[in-house]
Amino acid sequence: MRLSRFFLPVLKETPADAQIASHRLMLRAGMVRQESAGIYAWLPLGFRVLKKIEQIVREEQDRAGVVEMLMPTIQPADLWRESGRYDAYGKEMLRIADRADREMLYGPTNEEMITEIFRAGVRSYKDLPKLLYHIQWKFRDEIRPRFGVMRGREFLMKDAYSFDIDETSARKSYNKMFAAYLRTFSRMGLKSIPMRADTGPIGGDLSHEFIILAETGESAVFCDKRLIEMSVPDRDLDFDGDLQPIVDQFTSLYAATDEVHDEAAFESAVPAEARVSARGIEVGHIFFFGDKYSAPMKAVVAGPDGKEVPVQMGSYGVGVSRLMGAIIEAHHDEDGCKWPTPVAPFHVGLVNLKPGDEATDAACAALYEAMQGAGVEVLYDDTPARPGEKFARMDLIGLPYQLVIGPRGLGEGAAEVKRRADGGREDVPVDKAAAHLAALVKAELAYS
Ligand code: ATP
Ligand code: MG
Repeated sequence: MRLSRFFLPVLKETPADAQIASHRLMLRAGMVRQESAGIYAWLPLGFRVLKKIEQIVREEQDRAGVVEMLMPTIQPADLWRESGRYDAYGKEMLRIADRADREMLYGPTNEEMITEIFRAGVRSYKDLPKLLYHIQWKFRDEIRPRFGVMRGREFLMKDAYSFDIDETSARKSYNKMFAAYLRTFSRMGLKSIPMRADTGPIGGDLSHEFIILAETGESAVFCDKRLIEMSVPDRDLDFDGDLQPIVDQFTSLYAATDEVHDEAAFESAVPAEARVSARGIEVGHIFFFGDKYSAPMKAVVAGPDGKEVPVQMGSYGVGVSRLMGAIIEAHHDEDGCKWPTPVAPFHVGLVNLKPGDEATDAACAALYEAMQGAGVEVLYDDTPARPGEKFARMDLIGLPYQLVIGPRGLGEGAAEVKRRADGGREDVPVDKAAAHLAALVKAELAYS
């Protein structure tokens, strides 16, 4: 992509109302624009990142054997009357009337709808388990939308739902999602910690929030330091095998959100030097809730004995748009973003220091072609801006690599490569630069 053709409305000033780094940087780098409180337009640069996050979430759901579908954003109120949540949900639900004055709503989540879809299509335990997901916009009229996309009103969520005949089988579905989440966040360059969370009236131990530690996080969390270093399952993981040992490994160490935190238990379980009490961002939530919806909504299946029982359900959310803020919180400095390669809007920023200079233009054009031909996503700064402005803009948008081409270097056959993550620079021969960058990018995209 040539920057001269792209749409990158970079802000010179730091927006005054943005309190945290990710919000500031997303506005400054022209990634999003607020259209109303908690409602954002995704500008081209931000949209590219959102799509990459979404795709990683999708790949790991597919890998875990969850089946993708798409439910609508607008739902009928009557569905929510069946579960009793239409009145219970309160002001967070955006309620709408259609032209015939039928009560509708913009979905804040999809338990009711998926339960309705399930009950229309499945009759027997022989068709279980079923695991379904979609990635769709949600609306919650949050009392305090803030921190940009971190707590929006309109936001993109992946929500999956599991259907099982009994709790033993439901635990297997839960474990699949547990392992899939560890892999999902790690592929985005995030260390997520599964933490015991409130299970509500159902009780049990099957509810975990996946938390990214960050000073600006909204939740107070407590955990054992050793969890932060624990390695996640690799890509060869067999999701049909026994995942309980992986879940046990992570859940054997103390980690809890403040709602369920027990200080005495924390102190007795974790040696003083390993106790972490910090703040975190909730990027995912997995939850087993049994027949909470299937019983009132009569989503029943015939068991082996022919008797009908309500199906046992779980739901599993990932905050896709919130993740973009979380990734920036984890990877930035005062100059801008530092995207991990798998979610970077482009892999390489090609900087032409002297547009109009024939040799520089020709070298840049050749490198641009060669890198794209090798599968590298390139943003080519072919604009007439001054070098200082170009460097600052590249640092702000935070592409993993910058390839800098100017007449002086070209005279010696050299190009400069800058790695955004650590600021490291090296000179490489111009004729080797494209292959060099392609190899670096490829290695960083080959996921473990
Ligand atoms: P929170 O406690 O942050 O309000 P929640 O418990 O309401 O979260 P869930 O209903 O479990 O969230 O939704 C699943 C995921 O969707 C959350 O883990 C979070 O990552 C994301 N999410 C929830 N609310 C928002 C929001 N207002 N803006 C952006 N992402 C959100
Ligand atoms: Mg909420």
